[in-house]
Amino acid sequence: MHQPIDHQDALKLGGDLYRFAGELYPICRSITGDGTRRTLEMIGGHIPLQLFEIPTGTPVFDWTIPREWNIRDAYVKSVTGERIIDFKKCNLHVLNYSTPVHEKLSLSELRPHLFTIPEKPDWIPYRTSYYREDWGFCISHNQLQALDEGPYEVCIDSSLTDGYLSYGECYLPGNTQDEVLISCHVCHPSLANDNLSGIAVATFLAKSLASVPRRYSYRFVFVPGTIGAIAWLARNRDAAQRVRHGLVLTCLGDGGRFHYKRSRRGNAEVDRSAAVVLRDLGEASEIIEFSPYGYDERQYCSPGFNLPVGCLMRSVWGTFPEYHTSADDLSFIGPVQLADSLRVCASIVDILEKNHHYRNMNPFCEPQLGRRNLYRSTGGKAVGEEINARLWVLNFSDGEHSILDIAEKSGIAFSEVRAAAELLQESGLLSLIAERD
Ligand SMILES: [Zn+2]
Repeated sequence: MHQPIDHQDALKLGGDLYRFAGELYPICRSITGDGTRRTLEMIGGHIPLQLFEIPTGTPVFDWTIPREWNIRDAYVKSVTGERIIDFKKCNLHVLNYSTPVHEKLSLSELRPHLFTIPEKPDWIPYRTSYYREDWGFCISHNQLQALDEGPYEVCIDSSLTDGYLSYGECYLPGNTQDEVLISCHVCHPSLANDNLSGIAVATFLAKSLASVPRRYSYRFVFVPGTIGAIAWLARNRDAAQRVRHGLVLTCLGDGGRFHYKRSRRGNAEVDRSAAVVLRDLGEASEIIEFSPYGYDERQYCSPGFNLPVGCLMRSVWGTFPEYHTSADDLSFIGPVQLADSLRVCASIVDILEKNHHYRNMNPFCEPQLGRRNLYRSTGGKAVGEEINARLWVLNFSDGEHSILDIAEKSGIAFSEVRAAAELLQESGLLSLIAERD
């Protein structure tokens, strides 16, 4: 289904992904509000996206949809009237979900509302106050140290009112109603790796899947972190039951190596597929066991659902210094990394789509491959490798082992095991077993 992406294509594709992240970058997103709506609209410019709005106050499991937050402007002005902190220059300057304020304050009165990162004195932190009403500004530590006693004119022109939580869904029907869930959060303001890289990769994955035949149905959900995933699960208990495989996508644009966090089940088909893709990549990568902390896999893998949903990342949240700071900007992500991440996602999907069971039609001793012209190489590969893959496929195609099982057991790349299976099927030595699920 997915042709390997060659280098030129990867560069072009990476450019498209990066450009899309760049277009989304300036928007001030949050868990509710117009910034998130605008983001969903822009995703909808690439793929068919249905928008959902859930009213403030709606109970979703143990949570309640919060009031909607919108912001127009925010600043701190010096006595000379100069905006020394300006939301319009960087939306991270405002504590996300700040309540409105307009006051004249001395530095000591303002100080409890200022957030910095002393260890990274040039960077602006990203802070939120979703579920506790507060207001504040985030600035570099250097700027804080240079502030005089004031007084300052402090203004946050925001609103926190009854409204809606917005999320988007792109559903691509397949041959079965069994679903693959791809989820990413859409609630961070100007932060590139966490979160725009995930949005860009998910959007372009949906775009590429939309134009090919699909065994599974695919549901891409673009939700505000935590509350959005909880709301989606609360409203989609039926769809959740149809999820056979799932991935949360985040932090996919930086230069770090790939990390795959297993689902709570630990050995779901998606977990094994991701592990084989990363193995076959031939680069350093790491598989992480499930833990109940992280992104929205926390909700999908809560014990009541226990969905087979893992999380694909490059660098892991919280482990890179740029995480949740102004240094996670567009220079921290790159087109090539985005394209490679998309390719890894497409390869995982490819395994899920093509992980069939076959039956060896000639199971009593090895069939005579030479007589069928199968004891030689068809391409540039070493003869031994190709024949080895055929022997593995023949031996384990007993109806019980899938070609993913065989790729795991043999250590041979999934793509080669599959190619061997297809060739053996053409020659009549294997027959495809109809899927039982
Ligand atoms: Zn985050």
